[in-house]
Amino acid sequence: MYCPHCNADNDRVLDSRACEDGRAIRRRRYCNQCERRFTTYERVERLTLTVIKKDLAREPFSREKIERGIERACWKRPISSERILELVAQVESDMQADYDSEIPSSVIGRIAMHHLANLDQVAYVRFASVYREFTDVEDFVAELAPLRNHLDDRPLDHSSDNAS
Ligand SMILES: [Zn+2]
Repeated sequence: MYCPHCNADNDRVLDSRACEDGRAIRRRRYCNQCERRFTTYERVERLTLTVIKKDLAREPFSREKIERGIERACWKRPISSERILELVAQVESDMQADYDSEIPSSVIGRIAMHHLANLDQVAYVRFASVYREFTDVEDFVAELAPLRNHLDDRPLDHSSDNAS
């Protein structure tokens, strides 16, 4: 770290402590060159992704929007609101892992679907049907195929298959 007084790159850390409720680390540093002290802060970079929508319009990423979509998919399912928030956090951290400025909305949808598939079958299908805008039954069945394999050890309930 360059010294703000003499510009030398020769310092040692005297003291490190968490501040801002643990969201930052404050370091007191000592410049071996000019023997003066200075302070640096280390913070987690805030997520400032831009979402590219299907019509190529851009909008700032909204965590609330993802949360609403997932909440709607989980409506009346035995899933706690804590679990939903956890899932939203997982989606967000997956987004951050691979994208740092712009992300297509389709990728966000895929990430959310991936996590929902592991959480709840009904919520997954609800989310997928809204997100994918299935145009015909075959698309829908194709979407479900990997899920059925995934759940092979759990017998599916076919009792309502002929209801329509
Ligand atoms: Zn210095």
